[in-house]
Amino acid sequence: MEPLLVSACLRGVPCRFDGRAKGSAAVAEAIGGRRTVAFCPEVSGGLPTPRRPAEIVGGDGHDVLDGRARVVDDTGRDVTAEFVEGAHRALEAARRAGCTEALLMTRSPSCGRGTVHDGTFTGALREGDGVTAALLERHGITVRPAPRG
Ligand code: SF4
Repeated sequence: MEPLLVSACLRGVPCRFDGRAKGSAAVAEAIGGRRTVAFCPEVSGGLPTPRRPAEIVGGDGHDVLDGRARVVDDTGRDVTAEFVEGAHRALEAARRAGCTEALLMTRSPSCGRGTVHDGTFTGALREGDGVTAALLERHGITVRPAPRG
């Protein structure tokens, strides 16, 4: 079976904006012993760890890819280019490894699938995908949100 692309923070890599990882027993169960390719789009796109939290303003990841929305951090810095670069690098990594499925961190402006923060930095959510999840889906890679907890 082909490997599963997984958000690196879910595999114990401390690459989240706050410098922490986010694995859990539920995530391990969802992976189910499959071979994995751990990947962090934001770090691969050139952002440091730790970094300021970022959200998509004006839409979701699809809107970012189409130039209708942008990604900004909580200081107002535009990090759209880094997020788009990281998404393309994730797609390259998935293709290179032969992944047709991904298990990605929920609510992230990169990895979120189905739900992301709404761009107000208030904790509010909206329907939509992160930038990497959107790009992977557009190229035929099935993205599943990881279980929370
Ligand atoms: Fe985890 Fe994805 Fe955020 Fe990287 S970009 S820290 S892999 S959720």
